[in-house]
Amino acid sequence: MTQISPQPGIMEIDLYVGGQSAIAGRKDVLKLSSNENPLGPPPAAIEAITEAARAAHLYPPTDHAALRAAIADVHGLDAERVICGVGSDEVLQFICQAFTGPGDEIIHTEHGFSMYPILAHMAGATPVKVAERDRVVDIDAILAAVTDRTRVVMLTNPGNPTGTILPTEDLTRLADGLPGHVILVLDCAYIEYAGDHDGGEALVRARDNVIMTRTFSKLYGLGGLRIGFGYGPKALIDVMTRIRQPFNLSGVQLAAAEAALRDPDWAARCVALNADQRARLAGALRQLGIACDDSHTNFVLARFADEAEAGRAHQALLDAGIIVRRVTGYGFPEGLRITVGDEDQTGRVIAALTDWRKGE
Ligand SMILES: *Cc1c(COP(=O)(O)O)cnc(C)c1O
Repeated sequence: MTQISPQPGIMEIDLYVGGQSAIAGRKDVLKLSSNENPLGPPPAAIEAITEAARAAHLYPPTDHAALRAAIADVHGLDAERVICGVGSDEVLQFICQAFTGPGDEIIHTEHGFSMYPILAHMAGATPVKVAERDRVVDIDAILAAVTDRTRVVMLTNPGNPTGTILPTEDLTRLADGLPGHVILVLDCAYIEYAGDHDGGEALVRARDNVIMTRTFSKLYGLGGLRIGFGYGPKALIDVMTRIRQPFNLSGVQLAAAEAALRDPDWAARCVALNADQRARLAGALRQLGIACDDSHTNFVLARFADEAEAGRAHQALLDAGIIVRRVTGYGFPEGLRITVGDEDQTGRVIAALTDWRKGE
């Protein structure tokens, strides 16, 4: 590359691979590969988007004050400690960019989100992968991997693609065990589906080195618009705000997110639908002899006998017009991650797998 060379780490990045979204020659495709909300965007958000579009000639506010106030209201948080980003991915990027660089280590776990090593390399830092134990994050293994160079520990809780969750006691034990110079990041993209778990919000409040990230992409049905937020100690949020572009979120994004938040009935309906269909899907899988852990998210990780069997089931689902996610890259060659759909969609998955089992 002539005399021009990229910053350290950038050429280590393997491009992110998203969920498949089409099957050649098929129109009735059911996409259950990216954990999207089966009910689509909330109607109130669609209205807000239309309204905000009329002001598209105006620059958006830079301080996100209205959205931060809504987040604070609805989730009982302190608006001063909230930072909004282009998806929670951007908030995670702020953390890596602001607090790590060449020579620093970012710990992530074996089955954690594939964005974490990408974000580490973007900052020039070194990602360090720590094993999980039976698909659950292993706190002792994380603590044993901490060195003088560790700056950040990134956890997905509940996990993706495992669907398992660490209780607050375990998160507290992890926070207690980390040196004060290490930031603990709790990526809570699916926490709304996990019952009454607070996602570590109390820990954030009590410590000066814990940050929680949340998203509008899953429960709030706005993955296509890219909105997320972080909640952390004010001192860290102030640092991150310096590297946030002033106009990172458009007026349309801000309005849609606020409207979605201000419609708690819609969110509650989505949570209830997910809980029903998740239990139904897990029950049907187990009846078919396909293993799965109890999920605390909006997907189920189906575990087949081996990689070959998972491959055959994957093909049978594709033949039925259903796209799910192979998770070989997440350490599960024998797994398929299936997003929980609505009643009809879940019925279609169960029927396709039942037919496949009969033909095996
Ligand atoms: C979906 C998901 C997110 C959300 O990312 P956005 O950038 O907010 O869309 C974050 N973390 C994990 C583990 C996810 O699965």
